[in-house]
Amino acid sequence: MRAIVVGAGLAGLAAADALAAGGFEVTVFEARDRVGGRVWSRTLDDGSVVELGGEFVLPPDDVVRRTARRLGLPLYEKGTLYGDREPRPPVAREELLAGIARIGGARDGTIRSALEGLGLSPPVLEAIAARVEVSTGYPAHEQPASVLASSGAGFGPFPSHGVAGGNQRLALAFARHLRVELSAPVERVAWSDDGVHVRANGAEHEAEACVIAVPAYVELVFDPPLPERKRRALAAVRYGHAAKLFLPLAEPAEPSAVLSVPGRFWAYTQRAPDGSALPVLSAFAGSPLGVESLTPEAVRELRPDLTFADAEPVRSEWPEGAYSVRLLESPLDDEALAEPVGPLAFAGEHTAGEWHALMEGALRSGERAARDLI
Ligand SMILES: Cc1cc2nc3c(=O)[nH]c(=O)nc-3n(C[C@H](O)[C@H](O)[C@H](O)COP(=O)(O)OP(=O)(O)OC[C@H]3O[C@@H](n4cnc5c(N)ncnc54)[C@H](O)[C@@H]3O)c2cc1C
Repeated sequence: MRAIVVGAGLAGLAAADALAAGGFEVTVFEARDRVGGRVWSRTLDDGSVVELGGEFVLPPDDVVRRTARRLGLPLYEKGTLYGDREPRPPVAREELLAGIARIGGARDGTIRSALEGLGLSPPVLEAIAARVEVSTGYPAHEQPASVLASSGAGFGPFPSHGVAGGNQRLALAFARHLRVELSAPVERVAWSDDGVHVRANGAEHEAEACVIAVPAYVELVFDPPLPERKRRALAAVRYGHAAKLFLPLAEPAEPSAVLSVPGRFWAYTQRAPDGSALPVLSAFAGSPLGVESLTPEAVRELRPDLTFADAEPVRSEWPEGAYSVRLLESPLDDEALAEPVGPLAFAGEHTAGEWHALMEGALRSGERAARDLI
């Protein structure tokens, strides 16, 4: 049996890996000239490895851990407290923690209206709203309060991890054992009960089954068109806005995490895999306001405690969207997004239900899509 996978992000590669293990002869077509998609690691001039896209492996991410272990890639502790960022302007810590302890009960309305209903002081309310907007990449008044209830787990002094040498090594390790065609964008997928014909880079390829593992904003031509329910679900997916900025430091700095409440970005330092402090300040902005505020000057102003090297900052932009977001106006239809259609299975973080927006979700969705076909 032959299978084609469209997209060599973590979702597509996990699907291809599982299909190959299940006896399929698999070809992956990838539009870019590299694998990894939204996981993209870069080595700076001083040797520091930074993540231009997906970065933090969090405690519940079992499939990332299992996959890294199986591919022989060690994880290391970054030292950065992803879930415990010091707000600026500062907020009394006890008051902030008491506020965070109450958000798990929020269920109705929007994130903003739910926070307003909790009787928090304005600085605590703003600090929590900023934190959630930065993580989801979207304004709080457009997201349902249920997001707040589930993101309660994102607060706390838990450890964060990354793949030693960069998270993109996950993608590279998968790809080593697979047939991946790079710079080969898929344009059209013709399908029937007998199989698929996929046009990539102008050439036709035939297979019995196919995994579609591209973000929902990629407009592939399906012949015949996908069923209405699937088309509606894909068209409704919205993406959070994010950008990152990396500023080399004159000296290594111990792990730290500071949140700009008005700027909707946070700036953090971290350790290298060998445990030494890295000489780089990373900053992540979420929401349209955050992406606009994220300038080298604003980041330096947020961190007067650090001395910056005389080196060019590196910026990463994700103009088409960073990851899927749950909105009141345009909810994610988890069931319809994940559902197979004839010989087509669907993967990608946006199809991963409660794990959406994460590397964990991408991997889980790829494994699920392969199971759908097997
Ligand atoms: C800035 C940023 C920070 C993040 N931080 C974190 C984090 O800290 N922790 C975390 O867990 N997650 C994080 N994420 C999210 C995580 O990176 C994604 O959820 C995950 O990588 C998505 O994987 P995917 O395979 O679903 O999609 P993608 O990685 O987007 O893969 C889809 C692939 O399809 C390819 N493609 C597109 N069109 C075509 C076509 N026509 N033909 C062939 N191929 C095509 C694309 O080039 C891409 O390689 C972050 C993401 C961003 C952008």
